[in-house]
Amino acid sequence: MKNINYEERINLSNYTTIKVGGFAEYFSKPNDTDEFINLIKWSNLNDQNCQIIGAGSNLLINNIFLKGLTICTKNMRSIKIESHSGIVVAEAGVMLPTMSNMLAKNGLQGGEWAVGIPGTVGGSICMNAGSKKLSLANNLLSVQVIDTKTLKTFEIEKKDINFQYRFSPFQQNNLLIISAKLLFEPKGNIEQLLETTKNNLKKKTDTQPYHLPSFGSIFKNPTDTYAGKLIEELGLKGFKIGGAEISTMHGNFIINNSSANSKDILDLITVIQQKVLQKKGIFLQPEVRMIGFDYP
Ligand SMILES: Cc1cc2nc3c(=O)[nH]c(=O)nc-3n(C[C@H](O)[C@H](O)[C@H](O)COP(=O)(O)OP(=O)(O)OC[C@H]3O[C@@H](n4cnc5c(N)ncnc54)[C@H](O)[C@@H]3O)c2cc1C
Repeated sequence: MKNINYEERINLSNYTTIKVGGFAEYFSKPNDTDEFINLIKWSNLNDQNCQIIGAGSNLLINNIFLKGLTICTKNMRSIKIESHSGIVVAEAGVMLPTMSNMLAKNGLQGGEWAVGIPGTVGGSICMNAGSKKLSLANNLLSVQVIDTKTLKTFEIEKKDINFQYRFSPFQQNNLLIISAKLLFEPKGNIEQLLETTKNNLKKKTDTQPYHLPSFGSIFKNPTDTYAGKLIEELGLKGFKIGGAEISTMHGNFIINNSSANSKDILDLITVIQQKVLQKKGIFLQPEVRMIGFDYP
């Protein structure tokens, strides 16, 4: 195994979009697949916990000292696009907005919706991120993974992955995504694709507090209704705990108005859940992933 590069005591609030997080004992940003695999091997052989993060856009990390190695994939940005066949191979750290714009420029149709999701390919497959009925899983052919226990790398076909609404088995198993093979519709009208992509981003920025620190939707939408609508109906928009506030623009977003800590945010999540349960009889399930909490 080659030498690995890591830093110590890194503040993870700089690596989450809500700008909240604890300190990682060890932290590394591999530049490619080989470095990534070496880091996983290092943590396994040295019996260290290994936590993976992408763009940190769906994460609430507790303000604690996280033992072990945290790996951020954001520098694993290699992407190969075959315009004629529509096949795309993207490393885990490729950002969806980057990929979405590249697809449009290459005349590939089917990724226009993803422009407004500020996450990586790996994080988005793990979260089964999407918009309305569209998600990255729709275009997925296979993923290359590494098993953190056996250290084996292998390919899994999409048909063998049980994707559900904002859920994939990668939220529970020992497999980390190295890269993904996707298929998009070739020979699209480039001008039209660029226009749709631009409009989709505008729709997001017009309706969500896109440029403020948040982690996107806090809760999954219950069947037949929207979490944001339920929260708004209870008059909770603008409600604050410490520096955490329910966005006045969108009821399903919490924003950090610069001084929030992880406790403010978790308390606010709990208050929303209690009020919605009391008044509407619905338990809102968090979409956001939590690290360093005793949360079920
Ligand atoms: C302004 C805003 C708008 C958003 N809009 C949407 C939306 O429209 N639709 C939607 O679905 N989401 C949305 N999100 C949420 C978020 O962007 C998505 O869930 C995104 O896919 C998360 O990707 P990430 O790289 O940031 O993952 P992270 O938040 O870093 O991690 C999420 C989970 O994935 C795991 N993970 C990360 N990389 C890997 C990997 N390589 N292998 C295995 N597991 C991995 C992490 O351990 C964690 O459990 C929004 C967020 C923001 C801030």
